[in-house]
Amino acid sequence: MSTAVGPRVSHLSTQAALLDVIRGAGRISRVDLARRTGLTGATVSIVVRKLIDEGMVVEAGRAESTGGKPAVLLELDPDARFAIGVHLEQSGITYVLSNLGGAVVGRWRHTGAETGDPSRVVERISLDLTALIESVGVEPDLIVGLGVVSPGPLTGSVGMALTRPTMNAWTDFPLAEALQRATGLPVMLENDATAAAVGEYWAGTRGSSTCFAALYMGVGLGSGLMVRGDLYRGASSNTGEVGHICVELDGPQCWCGGRGCVEALAGPEVVVAQARAAGVDLPGTGHDKDFAALTRLALADDDRAKEILHRSARYVALAAQALANLMDLDRIVLTGPAFAQAGSLYVPAIRDQLDRSFFARTTHPIEVDISLHAAEAAAIGGAALVLQSELAPRASSTRALRSPTSSRVLRLPAHAIH
Ligand SMILES: [Zn+2]
Repeated sequence: MSTAVGPRVSHLSTQAALLDVIRGAGRISRVDLARRTGLTGATVSIVVRKLIDEGMVVEAGRAESTGGKPAVLLELDPDARFAIGVHLEQSGITYVLSNLGGAVVGRWRHTGAETGDPSRVVERISLDLTALIESVGVEPDLIVGLGVVSPGPLTGSVGMALTRPTMNAWTDFPLAEALQRATGLPVMLENDATAAAVGEYWAGTRGSSTCFAALYMGVGLGSGLMVRGDLYRGASSNTGEVGHICVELDGPQCWCGGRGCVEALAGPEVVVAQARAAGVDLPGTGHDKDFAALTRLALADDDRAKEILHRSARYVALAAQALANLMDLDRIVLTGPAFAQAGSLYVPAIRDQLDRSFFARTTHPIEVDISLHAAEAAAIGGAALVLQSELAPRASSTRALRSPTSSRVLRLPAHAIH
């Protein structure tokens, strides 16, 4: 399912390209690796030897003979390395432990994240990680890092510089530093939508797409973009903020500073408020549970719930179309906890909008589907981000993780942590 990376693979991304093709192929010979990547046989041999020495790739039998000596097949050793993804939300903390093959081998959920006090959250995460690692029985030395994911936006050297009103205590809190000290693991920060896009790519469900967006709805609406296997990061890893596209000039004030943003008109928090104002009976135990309850009502054919969510879906469809037109996408994957619940209510509106007016519709189709891992996509993405950065660094994501004992850990350059 992997895309050939073309003949001019840079030195930096050679290992990344080979690992990517091996992962995509399952089992593959050196000759086929050279053919698929455009690299020379000699380069493939050298890099494969390095990957075998590092335990990431193993030889796994021989191909069927086509006349000559059958070729040795290579495959990834999925248990050679692991990474942990941590998703911080108001309602709780989700952890996943993923192996090199992208499979989730352990998960943990702590409800109630005490988001008012970041230093307590750091203590909490440290305790939970110890419990998670012990329960799965993975050798701690094989864990290459921690990918911490939260609703954006992020700043490189610190954490969240601009936060939602509910997370004001996190403004300027040095989250990566504090977690690195507490856990002894290298830490990467990423926003939820971007991480989800990497997770989707790493999990191998990308099909033949070359340019896709993960449209992520959790507490807000955002997106992550993957272009030919590379994450599109922009200047500071705050790309794809489609929730803050203005669709009503004099619309309601948004927390980002704008007016009439898609999120301010149709995000989950707003949708819940609209439902309550319309007299829909919701449990009132947090916007995520209320949104889930509203979704269940709509799926059970409640007219008011359906109307509110359909209206939200039409706004979200405008955001999806803007993104598709801007990036010439061939696939949009709906993911995140809100789409895990309500994805089936949003897909038809997005498809309708794109069928009518996606700019490149006469040139190529655009797929719209729901992620198989929508509910925990951000945590899976956090782990995938670490694996991708540590084991398969690419030209656009060369933020090598630093060892926590390194003197450079406490103040990484702005591009080093996301
Ligand atoms: Zn906004």
